[in-house]
Amino acid sequence: MQTLAVLSLRCPKCGGSLRGAEQDVVFWCPNCAVPCEVVGRGFVARRGAVAAAEPGATLLYLPIWAVGVRWKIRLADESRGRLLRGLPPIQWVYVTGFNLTNASYFGDPGLLYTQRGVRLEAAEASGRRVAGCVRGVEDALAYLEPHLLAIVDRRVDVTDATLLLEVGEAVLWGVPFLDEGETLRDGVLGLSYPAAALMDLDAIRAAQGAP
Ligand SMILES: [Zn+2]
Repeated sequence: MQTLAVLSLRCPKCGGSLRGAEQDVVFWCPNCAVPCEVVGRGFVARRGAVAAAEPGATLLYLPIWAVGVRWKIRLADESRGRLLRGLPPIQWVYVTGFNLTNASYFGDPGLLYTQRGVRLEAAEASGRRVAGCVRGVEDALAYLEPHLLAIVDRRVDVTDATLLLEVGEAVLWGVPFLDEGETLRDGVLGLSYPAAALMDLDAIRAAQGAP
């Protein structure tokens, strides 16, 4: 028989309340600046950082995982190897941690950050409230291969390719987005997303606006 675990949404370290939307599995403690992932019946602390933003704008911090990688691609037909020259030197794979509907239509921030080789710069994290994350670290790792292959595939057909992948540390970043009402503008690449594409936006606004 399955028993239902009831977990109180309090930071295991400082006891402060954690807020998030219904499907969130990682909750950010603004006091400790630590993301706490629900694992089994308790929380496991993950590495977290908050990315720098322009001052003054109305900001929402949304979660994006960054996973350090070392990788190589091998093609069965080695004569096609030259096609792989000039691939972007990707050291981090980013995985979107919030609920974006139609990411393939609006653009998936995680995939775009990976493709552009974004290096996020850490800012003062204490007191920042980052929205809860719908993907745990294991779930995020499942995106490494598809993201890398999607990027390589733009240059060369990957049907006969082998990806050799070494996985390093995972960091959950709070990435600043400018809340412009009808749209949300990514504070790193400047890309815009319709507010309606973010499923939990009302909950995120409410949680981040609150003291
Ligand atoms: Zn805490």
